[in-house]
Amino acid sequence: MSEASKVLSFEDARHIVEEHAAMLAPPETEILDLLAADRRVLARAIVSDRDLPPFPRSTRDGYAVRSADLAAVPGSLEVVGEIKAGESLENIPKYLGNGQAVSIMTGAPVPKGADAVVMVEYTSQQDGRVEITRSVAAGENVVPAGAEAKQGIVLVERGVRLNDAAIALAASVGKLRLEVCKRPRVAVLATGDEIVSVDKTPGPTQIRNSNSYSLAAQTRNAGGEPILLPIAPDEPRRLRDLVEEGLNSDVLLMTGGVSMGRYDLVEQVLEELKAEFFFTGAKIQPGRPVAFGRCRGMSRREMAGTYFFGLPGNPVSTMVTFELFARPIVEALGGMSPQKLRFVYAKLKSDIRAKMGLKRFLPAILSGEFEASQVELVTWQGSGDIAATARANCYIVVPPDREVIPAGEFVPIVLR
Ligand code: AMP
Ligand code: MG
Repeated sequence: MSEASKVLSFEDARHIVEEHAAMLAPPETEILDLLAADRRVLARAIVSDRDLPPFPRSTRDGYAVRSADLAAVPGSLEVVGEIKAGESLENIPKYLGNGQAVSIMTGAPVPKGADAVVMVEYTSQQDGRVEITRSVAAGENVVPAGAEAKQGIVLVERGVRLNDAAIALAASVGKLRLEVCKRPRVAVLATGDEIVSVDKTPGPTQIRNSNSYSLAAQTRNAGGEPILLPIAPDEPRRLRDLVEEGLNSDVLLMTGGVSMGRYDLVEQVLEELKAEFFFTGAKIQPGRPVAFGRCRGMSRREMAGTYFFGLPGNPVSTMVTFELFARPIVEALGGMSPQKLRFVYAKLKSDIRAKMGLKRFLPAILSGEFEASQVELVTWQGSGDIAATARANCYIVVPPDREVIPAGEFVPIVLR
């Protein structure tokens, strides 16, 4: 590693990534059918074409009343009609007068003059009158027109990843098509003389390239389009050619060759390419030798430059460092507004003993049910152990100053 090595705390490294993510220019956009836009990032805000609800809406089956008429109960009111959901305007009383009620269904418009709906359970109707046993407060069981959203306001901001509720909201305001951000192209470059591509038969000391696939899967999940480059040998010229090719994408993810070994050439090659490094390590485990930087000048984007990550080659380190550091950049290149990383807490099932000094992200299993969720580490052979990590569904976050964490304590986790 060069003299200019910058090893940061986990939080500082993460903040640097977030700052860069926040400065990225918005990507190109495309128009998609409503359902095809699910999980994509919205490029143009969804605006309400009408008030929501468009009329004062009854939330119950019952009787629309003037609440003042029921100050004393039981009370008896004259029934002047019935309003179904979707009732045409001419069938709705223009105005509900003193001493009057109208039978009304859930989702139907409450007529003028009425200010509340009494649930049908508290009523009995006979001979054109209704007997009501409960009083109601003004506004009860009625959602005023425009209370959820006024016509013309932004319902979903640009930069939001669309989910079921956002898709429903778009449908409710008549958006059959949505403008979304194009997916960023994410180049993935695995390095190492021992690494062979998955379609080859590995020799006795060779290792199949799994990192390009975990990174490709994580990239898709973060909204990017992975581009798998050929495996780079531990040889500077060929590595440099492939790095340059990768820098033509929107971001370059490299794995392997970033530790302190004699054949760890990634940083050397990037330095030759006049890369600027924002950090070259984070005080975490797994994943300490993680590098983040930018190369200007040799890519299509001559001025802006292309971000790159040098991720450690150990498979679990690769996965963890993508989630912690690369994900925000991939998401931001895809137009998403920057997200803070938030840990959730779960109860520890058995004691943890950890090495101090580094923040650790250890593969773990979250189990239990309902409020009784609990978490424990998987037994693993260290950060090369993909088999253990495949059994895990989260990482437990162990702070650098804890040597022992007793069972029963609530510990932070990152879900995966
Ligand atoms: P390195 O970061 O190059 O020192 O590699 C660390 C460890 O990760 C070594 O055991 C490598 O064989 C392994 N490794 C590196 N790249 C890959 C890869 N693409 N797929 C699977 N294992 C890898
Ligand atoms: Mg290597």
